[in-house]
Amino acid sequence: MRMKTKLIHGGVDGDPQTGAVVFPIYQVSTYKQETIGKHKGYEYSRTGNPTRNAVEQYIADIEGGVRGFAFSSGMAALSSIIMLFNQGDHIVCGDDVYGGTYRVLSKVFARLGIQVTFVDTTDVAKVETAIQDNTKAVMLETPSNPLMNVTDIGAISEVCQAKGLKLIVDNTFMTPYWQNPLSLGADIVYHSATKYLGGHSDVVSGLVVVKDEQLGQDLHFIQNSVGGVLGPQDSFILLRGMKTLGVRMEEHEQNARRISQWLSERSDIVKVYYPGLPGHPGHDIQKQQARGFGGTFSFDVGSAERAERLLDRVNIFTLAESLGAVESLISVPARMTHASIPAERRAQLGITDGLVRVSIGIEDVEDLLEDLEQGLK
Ligand SMILES: *Cc1c(COP(=O)(O)O)cnc(C)c1O
Repeated sequence: MRMKTKLIHGGVDGDPQTGAVVFPIYQVSTYKQETIGKHKGYEYSRTGNPTRNAVEQYIADIEGGVRGFAFSSGMAALSSIIMLFNQGDHIVCGDDVYGGTYRVLSKVFARLGIQVTFVDTTDVAKVETAIQDNTKAVMLETPSNPLMNVTDIGAISEVCQAKGLKLIVDNTFMTPYWQNPLSLGADIVYHSATKYLGGHSDVVSGLVVVKDEQLGQDLHFIQNSVGGVLGPQDSFILLRGMKTLGVRMEEHEQNARRISQWLSERSDIVKVYYPGLPGHPGHDIQKQQARGFGGTFSFDVGSAERAERLLDRVNIFTLAESLGAVESLISVPARMTHASIPAERRAQLGITDGLVRVSIGIEDVEDLLEDLEQGLK
């Protein structure tokens, strides 16, 4: 099956019990056992729930892995992945990652004894240098957030294989429609499904897919032990949203290409960070390892005042955190999503106060261009 067909018919296709073409919501916590331990595969919904199972099989299928897991948020998904490791273990993580990823690693897991070093993963040599005797994994996000730096997943995976490290990739920005990290050598791929996978700003969720059965068993043990599972209603909403991922991603991308090009031709924009632009440093790697460039990007308008004015003036773009839904969103990372990163670090990374991030929706592109034009005037 090709990708758009798989998005409609992949995983559990409908309900085998009744023939319902859509998998139903099993709003249930426990399951009858005929005799002790004899049941139909479900005992208790933290351990397993049919609707959650449907979304888990579906994401495993479309990411090309052996087993999928659905969590109550992207951060719950990531935290469960980190719990695969032990006190004293060390992780090398990208330095331009989602603010919440930086926060949970540096403020929560570091306190529990899992060490982390943040490096620029676009530079393979820097990743190699950061590896210590106790390093167990490399974690990266590509394209990164908000600067859209592109990491060569295959090159990092070679380093990981040589040293016996797990490679963990946050695929939120690309989605399995454009990029499949497992096929490029990653061991674990995860998503904030709150973003493009859900796609309609109506559900918070996280999905994980693993490469092999052992990791599947280990992560199921954590999921069942820690319990940050996705509920049946949210699993249903997520399944519904994901069916249109293909058509949505095509539209997001077309609009994003047009708008990023338009911005890059303006003399009043300092810089546009979109890997789809030929001048972007990650453009060639992106073309090799992914099928598209996505619908989210950033641009620098030069100052905090100008960014604030733009955000005040836009009408169609909504000033909000998050990304990846049908409506266009606009934000200032330094003061919103990335505010938990210390100012000094933000400056080092290039997340200036004039940096504006847009998640381009699927509205008519002319309306979006007119909105930005009047906002930038
Ligand atoms: C939003 C986001 C997360 C966190 O996911 P939640 O669903 O908000 O918990 C992680 N990584 C990236 C790239 C994100 O954009």
